[in-house]
Amino acid sequence: MITSRRVYPLEPDGHEMRRLVDEAMRRIVDHIESLPSQPAQNVEGATEFARTLIEPLPQQGSAYGQLLDQLFDELIPRSFNAAGPGYLAYIPGGGIFHSAVADLIADAVNRYIGVCAAAPALVQLEANVVRWFAEIIGLPRTTSGGVLTSGGSLANFTAIVTARRAKLPEDFLRGTLYCSDQIHHSFQKAASLAGFPYANVREIASDAKFRMRLDALEEAIERDRTAGFTPFLVAGSAGTTSTGAVDDLAAIAKIAHDRELWFHVDGAYGAFFMLTERGRATLRGIEEADSIILDPHKTLFLPFGTGALLVRDARLLRAAHTSHADYLPEMQEADELVDFCELSPELSRDFRGLRVWLPLKLFGIEPFRQQLEEKLDLIKVARDGLAAIDGIEIVAEPELTILAFRHTRLDNRELLARINARKRVMLTPAIVNGEFVIRVCIVSHRTHLDRIEMLLEDVRGATGAPPAGGHGPQRLLA
Ligand SMILES: *Cc1c(COP(=O)(O)O)cnc(C)c1O
Repeated sequence: MITSRRVYPLEPDGHEMRRLVDEAMRRIVDHIESLPSQPAQNVEGATEFARTLIEPLPQQGSAYGQLLDQLFDELIPRSFNAAGPGYLAYIPGGGIFHSAVADLIADAVNRYIGVCAAAPALVQLEANVVRWFAEIIGLPRTTSGGVLTSGGSLANFTAIVTARRAKLPEDFLRGTLYCSDQIHHSFQKAASLAGFPYANVREIASDAKFRMRLDALEEAIERDRTAGFTPFLVAGSAGTTSTGAVDDLAAIAKIAHDRELWFHVDGAYGAFFMLTERGRATLRGIEEADSIILDPHKTLFLPFGTGALLVRDARLLRAAHTSHADYLPEMQEADELVDFCELSPELSRDFRGLRVWLPLKLFGIEPFRQQLEEKLDLIKVARDGLAAIDGIEIVAEPELTILAFRHTRLDNRELLARINARKRVMLTPAIVNGEFVIRVCIVSHRTHLDRIEMLLEDVRGATGAPPAGGHGPQRLLA
């Protein structure tokens, strides 16, 4: 219906736009300010509740305030509190608020950044972010490039497709990939999505510190060559999810490059520790990678949906993803300007660069570095405090900010349930050498020493050990 009266609800006026944001903002601020006192997880009965929400396509509107109330009072609380300080589970993603503001701006102006011609300055701004990441890792400035993805999984996929195109013929099914048996499962999944049978991914045994065994890697490559396969990619882990183990990246780089194989690094959790001196020592060799995945939504504290792929030779990334259509504008030929659609499976997408660019420009990199330094300090406090509890054994020493422990006498499943029942921290398990162990992962920008004290108190309490007296980690708070 065409009408001259202003009755387009999808085009709010200035007053209405302000009301929408202000009402949401009031609830957002309450929510974020109360994160430390919210339970670390609150999911009892949440799946049953979720089923009650199934409903048909709404034919009529609802009141905005009621929808916000429902969201903030009923839906958001029934979750793992993944943004809160007690979330020491999986890999936390704190979600800095400045990025949320950037997302509001990006979505509201809704510029198109899939092709350079549509918004060259904004595309360049996102390209700068990629360049900064390459600088953090130490990739060569002139040849490297990359793209922001929705996360590490898609970055893994894009990396494997790039390596496949660079190293293998069109008929690539004899190609084999190598990783440790500790690698994140998104690697095998990405290989499968890239067209390889699962059997072509060789999971190499790891050593006592959960690092890929180099002798076993070399043997597997030789065995496959002899058997007529075409080894083409070796993946190292810059921090595994289960135990935080860091492979000997320098040694793996040498093994791969001596045999002209592609060296890929999974840095989804660990790569940003390159911002710290301790991290640089641990991750030595990462700069030799042909491709690296990073997750700003983990160790740069950004909201979920922010991953990155870096490639040593950006031309190879482009060669694997370029395609043409006569309805698209001319793509850039100059090396300085990029069309993101030529570097990834995506064409239209969100302007995710702004959510990285805004906080980095606003603060510079220093507060991010300090956060990671603090996390490296905190895991030491956690490690020493746990090791001092009677019966607890550290199964995986922290290399970055993940450790794993077990109780030598108690049932560790029950112990984990008892720790989590206090809801001040949330921990998750890992299976290590076939054994159930408990993991601590400290990554959130909201996690500080007071929360690690709570962790130690709660573990101590759950084991039945008496609270720490005049000594032990508690005095650290004084
Ligand atoms: C989280 C993670 C991934 C997968 O990344 P997503 O962003 O969850 O897709 C891959 N590798 C490691 C080591 C991870 O921690």
